[in-house]
Amino acid sequence: MGLFSTFFRGEFKTVKEVEAAAFRTFYSGLIVLIVGLILTLTLVFIPFGISLMILGGLIMLADILWFVFVSKRNSINIQCPACQKDNQVFPGDSYFNCIYCGKIVLLRE
Ligand SMILES: [Zn+2]
Repeated sequence: MGLFSTFFRGEFKTVKEVEAAAFRTFYSGLIVLIVGLILTLTLVFIPFGISLMILGGLIMLADILWFVFVSKRNSINIQCPACQKDNQVFPGDSYFNCIYCGKIVLLRE
C-alpha cells in the first residue's frame, strides 16, 4: 500500500504541493479546452477543435480525480521546529520542506 500511494502522489511530500500541482494541471486542461473551443468557431478546424475540447476535459477530470484520491490519503500535521507552523504531510517520508519557511524538517519513524 505504501508503494501504491507513493506512485500516485509522486514526489510530493506535502498536501500543499499536491494542491499546487493539481491547479497547474487543471489550468493546462482548461487552456487546451479553450483553444479547442476557439477552433470550433472556425469552419476548417471544427473536428480538431472538438478533439481538443474532449482532451482538455479529460485532463481536467483526471486531474480532479487524482487530487481527490491523493488528498484523501491520510496526511499528518507536523509542526515545523523553525517557524512553529503546521504542515500537512504524507506519512512515510523521512523529510519534507516546510511550506512556510522552506527549512528541511526531518521526520522520525
Ligand atoms: Zn517552517
